[in-house]
Order: sequence, then C-alpha cells, then structure tokens
Amino acid sequence: MRTDLAVIGAGPAGLAAALAADRRGLRVALFDAAPEPGGQFYRQPAAGLRAERPQALHHQWRTWTRLRDRLAASSVRVLGEHHVWCVERTPDGPVVHALLGPEQEKPAEVRATAVLLATGGYETVLPFPGWTLPGVVTAGGAQAMLKGGLVVPGRTAVVAGTGPLLLPVATGLAAAGVRVAALVESADPGRLLRHAGALAGKLPEGAGYAARLLRHRVPFLARHTVVRAHGDTRLTGVTVAALDAHGRVRPGTERRLPCDTLAVSHGMLPHTDLAGSLGCRLDGPTVAVDAEQRTDVPGVWAAGEATGVGGAALALAEGHIAGRSIAARLRGAVPDPGEWAPAARARARLRGYAAALDAAYAPPAHWTDRVTDDTVVCRCEEVTAGTVREALTLGAGDARTVKLLTRAGMGWCQGRMCEPAVAGLAGREPVPSRRPFARPVPLGVLAGQHEQHEQHEQHGQQTERGPS
Ligand SMILES: Cc1cc2nc3c(=O)[nH]c(=O)nc-3n(C[C@H](O)[C@H](O)[C@H](O)COP(=O)(O)OP(=O)(O)OC[C@H]3O[C@@H](n4cnc5c(N)ncnc54)[C@H](O)[C@@H]3O)c2cc1C
Repeated sequence: MRTDLAVIGAGPAGLAAALAADRRGLRVALFDAAPEPGGQFYRQPAAGLRAERPQALHHQWRTWTRLRDRLAASSVRVLGEHHVWCVERTPDGPVVHALLGPEQEKPAEVRATAVLLATGGYETVLPFPGWTLPGVVTAGGAQAMLKGGLVVPGRTAVVAGTGPLLLPVATGLAAAGVRVAALVESADPGRLLRHAGALAGKLPEGAGYAARLLRHRVPFLARHTVVRAHGDTRLTGVTVAALDAHGRVRPGTERRLPCDTLAVSHGMLPHTDLAGSLGCRLDGPTVAVDAEQRTDVPGVWAAGEATGVGGAALALAEGHIAGRSIAARLRGAVPDPGEWAPAARARARLRGYAAALDAAYAPPAHWTDRVTDDTVVCRCEEVTAGTVREALTLGAGDARTVKLLTRAGMGWCQGRMCEPAVAGLAGREPVPSRRPFARPVPLGVLAGQHEQHEQHEQHGQQTERGPS
C-alpha cells in the first residue's frame, strides 16, 4: 500500500494532523496499536461492552465527538491494531512496518511520502518496597481499566506519586464508586504557588478537581510519599509519610492506610523510539521539532507528547499545525504560518503551562534512600536495587554499563520502565536509549524482511542486466 502521509498514533495529535491533511487533499493512513482511535485521553470502551454513557468517564467530550464525526466523514484510512515496530528510511520515502492484531505476529508495511510521529508518552513509576505486589498498578493503568474496560481495579484505593495525572485518576476512581483512601502527592504546593502567574489559566481546572475531591471526601496529602506497600500475596495497605523541605521522610510521621489498590505514577516520558531509530535529533527526552513540527529528518514530522508532555489540548494544536505544514510541503509550497496562527498561539500558551507544571511537580529528591536493596528495580529481569548498587560500586556509571553488568533493561520492555530508576540510583538524569525497534518483533518477521530485501536486490540486478 502507498499513501501520502502515514500518521503513527491516533491520539489527539495524530487525529488533528490526519484530519488537517485529509482536508487538504492528502491520502492519509492513521496507525494505532489500539483497536480504536482516541489515544490515552480519549480512550474508548471496547465496542463489545456497549457502554451507554461513555461520556461519564471523560472530560472535553464535545471535542472528542467532533473529532470522531469528522474522522468518520473523512477519507483517512484508519489502521487499528497496527503496532508499528519500525519506520525505515528508503530512497523512495519512509516505509512503515507494523505487526497486526493482538498477537502482533502478522506483518504489514505501508510506503509513504511523509511520516508524522504522534506516539504520545508513557508513565514513569519509581520503585519502592512492595511496588511489585499484585494490586499496585500505574495511575494511567487504573484509568485505562476504567475508560477502556469499564472496570475498577479494587474497592479501596490510594492514588500516589506526583503530577497532574493523579487528579483525574483519583476523581475518576471515586466517581466510579471506589473509596479513595488518599491522594498522596509528593510535590510541595508552595512550588505550584511560585508558578501561579504562569498557571493562572489553569486555575478553573484545578478548582474543579479540588471540588470533586471534596465532594468525594478524598483526603489530599501534599508533601507525602508512599514508603512501602504491604501484603503477602497481594496488596493489603501502604505506609505513607510526610516529607521535609529536602524530600526526606520526616521521622515519626509514618502511618498505615489499608487499601487493595495503589495507583501510582511519578510523571511521564515521551515515546521516542521510532524517532530515535529514524535518526531524529532528540532534545533531552523529547523529539526536537521546529515551528512547523518538523524534525531534522526530511519527511518526518512529530507532534503531541512525543515532543514534550503537555496535555491533550497542546497535542491537538501541534497536530493541527503539523497536518497543515505537511499538506503544504508535499504540494511543494512553503506554508504560511499565519494560516495556523490561533493554533500557534494556543501552543505557546499551553507549552508555558507545561513548563510551569514540570517545574512544580518532580519526584522527591532522595527517593532512592527509601529503595531497600531487596527491592526489585527491573521487573522483566528481576534485578534488585542491591545488584544495581553493586554494579555502580564496580564502576558502572551509566544505565548502559549497569545493563551489561546486571541485565537490568534487557527484558521485554527494553528498559522503558526501569531506566529512570537505574539512572536515579546512579545519581544521573535518565537519557533515552536508542532502540532499533519500537516493539518486540518475532524472528520470523525479521527473516521475512531479509528475504524480501534479497529478492528486491536480485530483481534489481536482473533488470539492470536485462533478460538473459
Ligand atoms: C496512561 C496515561 C493516562 C493519561 N490520562 C490523562 C488524563 O486523565 N487527563 C489528561 O489531561 N491527560 C492524560 N494523559 C495525558 C494525555 O493523554 C495526553 O496529554 C494526550 O493524550 C496526548 O496526546 P498524544 O496524541 O500526544 O498521545 P496519546 O493520546 O498518548 O496517543 C498516542 C497514540 O499512539 C499510539 N502508539 C504509540 N506508539 C505506537 C506504535 N509504535 N505503533 C502504533 N501505535 C502507537 C498509542 O497507542 C496511542 O493511541 C494521560 C497519559 C497517559 C500516558
């Protein structure tokens, strides 16, 4: 199959871009690993569940219905359950390689003239004693169960960690009937106040969440952290404690909260694997883009959380700009930024909020003090903090050397989960790894690729020689 534009990711950024490009006459293929478009923010219940009021679980439902209806009326080819494992650069333009269906074994490829990476972000969870017990889930995971599966993870939950995501998760669980025993936020509200000017436009949203927490009687424990999750075969409770101004536990403040669910998150990181393997320049943990959302690789654009975590509205604005830029550039025209001025203004304002929130929310300094040696850090390879520390004392100074010495990061997730923890234990900032593939790929698929390339080459040589 050949298309003008391949959009990877059908969240707000990918949807906005696909619609903008379709409207300007491009053939667009919209890939997503999920069966339905929507991404994280507009995640929809599985069709078989026949949800009667899915809007009850969502904010900004009107925006979603507009996007959904415009997509249905468009010519965009929606390719659900397409897990993109690689975008290959070829002289004829990018080739998108995907694995189909829930089994992710059958390959598919689409040739395109341009690619937009709108792959979103994923949650960071830092380890603490007991975090691998059944009943401990990520905050986004709890929300995905609710929005996508219409199920709650338990009866009594503690929502903990740091970041704005904890607010919709705690209020969403409470509205669904879960008793939320506490929202435990490690950030200091004083830091939010310090950025009050930059965040003034976010006040109504914050006030809305505060009202919902009050209505559902959810205790809000600011400058607190979970120091341990308890249970033998599954979670039975957590110990929380207050933090001092330096992020250390204040002795004597520990108390136990019984619960069967702990929904935890320590912030988000952009998905940069596809960008990295394409050779796009990264700016810290994000894909670097210009004012048109172009990466430094010709024919490759990026938008949404892949270029910086900042919320669904920012993703929509960036996607819209990218779609318009791609449509103009593929026609051979230089786009007029004046055409997307409102989206550019929204982008500047929302990036300002994102920077302020980023500065206000951070995992507590000294979080590693509370990670005991027997705490598992890399879940895939079952590597403990003690083993990582031993590697560090042997001279391993970065995540890569720790990986070689301990296997931390060599498992199924390829370090996506444990990298921030390993970096923290090493006293360094996490640096995104360059991974050749964005997903695990069956060897049969790789072998098939190799055979195809060989056949192409042989065919090319025969064509050059002419018929014998
Ligand atoms: C777990 C989670 C929960 C969140 N909950 C909230 C919330 O409650 N409120 C809020 O304001 N914000 C929330 N956010 C943030 C919000 O979802 C984002 O701001 C917004 O959705 C970003 O839009 P996006 O289009 O950049 O990415 P996303 O909405 O994340 O969409 C990216 C899409 O790309 C697809 N994708 C990624 N890699 C591949 C691949 N290799 N192959 C195929 N498809 C791929 C994913 O399946 C996904 O559908 C959440 C984020 C996460 C990660």
